[in-house]
Parts: sequence; C-alpha cells; structure tokens
Amino acid sequence: MDLVFFGIQGSGKGTQAKTLAEELGYYIFEAGGELRKIKASGTELGDLIKNYIDNGELVPFEIIMKVVNEAVASIPADQKILFDGIPRDEDQMKAFDQILTDSGREFRCVHILLDKDDALERIKGRAEKEGRADDADQEKVLRRMDLFVEKTMPVIEIYESAGKVIEIDGKGSVEEIYTRIKEAVIA
Ligand code: ADP
Repeated sequence: MDLVFFGIQGSGKGTQAKTLAEELGYYIFEAGGELRKIKASGTELGDLIKNYIDNGELVPFEIIMKVVNEAVASIPADQKILFDGIPRDEDQMKAFDQILTDSGREFRCVHILLDKDDALERIKGRAEKEGRADDADQEKVLRRMDLFVEKTMPVIEIYESAGKVIEIDGKGSVEEIYTRIKEAVIA
C-alpha cells in the first residue's frame, strides 16, 4: 500500500517523509524536488517552470502530472511509493487517483497537522539552513500556505470522507512526530 503525505508548509512533512521512506523501504516521490531538478536542468521546460516555483505558484497541471505519470510507470508494481507534494488540488487529485488505479496501486494518506503560526516559525529556520529562494521570501511562503488551505485542504477532506487519512499531531520534536507517524503507519 502506497502513502500520500500531506501537511502545510513547515509542518515537517518532507523531513518525516524522507525518514519514513528510508526506514520502511518506500520509494519516495517528492513533487517539489522533482520540479526543482527540472528547473535546474537548463532545459526549456526548466525555464518555463522556474517562475511558478520561485513565486510559490503551482506549476501547470500537464507538467506535474506528466512527471508523476512517468515516475509511477517506471516503478515496479511491488515497490511501494511514498508521495510527497501530490496531489495539491482537486484536478490533480482526479488525475492522480486515475494513474494509481490504472497501475493497480492503492494508497492511504498521512496528514501532519500544524497551525499556521507554528509552521511559519519552522520555515524561518529552514530558509536559513537550506537556502531555498522560495522559503526566504515570507510573502511567497504565505502564498504557498494560502494555496495549501484553499486548494489542498479540500483534497484532504475528500480523502478523509473516504476513510483514507491518518491524522498526526505535528506539534513537538522531529523525533516525537516521527514516532507518531511510524506507529500509525505500521499499526
Ligand atoms: P512546499 O510544500 O513547502 O511548498 P515543495 O518542495 O513541496 O515545497 O514545493 C515547492 C514548489 O514546487 C511549489 O511551490 C510549486 O511551485 C511546485 N510544486 C510542488 N508540488 C507541486 C504540485 N503537485 N503541483 C504543482 N506545483 C508543485
């Protein structure tokens, strides 16, 4: 069974996803990371998506879904996948559900809950540590958070209604949160 991670910017989602994927043997598909690789590739596509990423906007539907499609197609059926950063809106959700269904894959979701103020505090630390342009500019961070609330929360609610979501309290240390996630996932 695959996993789909959700959490507002600063919730620790990426860190937790990486650690869990490594420990439990998931292949990790990180949407933002894949897109940043394309951005840095010096190709026309890279130039095209640069402004979206730097401004904290979602890159166009066709581009991100092609990346997801190709990744899923290249991963063996018996290799479980942890998806981080996809789907982010309802259109992506429909396409994502279809891709997974077509490849005979099933998934549940993990949603790391954290309020905006706590999340903003964490991001300030991350911007200094990782040097990400889109984290250094508070306005861009707030824009991504708004997108999360407006576009991604409805997706999580739909998955919740379908009984697919495990909710995790995102307050506390990285280790505490990790323990909560791991126990919930392996239970
Ligand atoms: P964060 O979750 O903190 O915004 P990510 O690394 O997940 O960081 O994403 C960084 C950027 O990559 C996003 O602001 C957006 O421009 C782009 N991106 C990531 N995932 C998607 C997606 N599913 N659809 C469109 N754009 C995406």
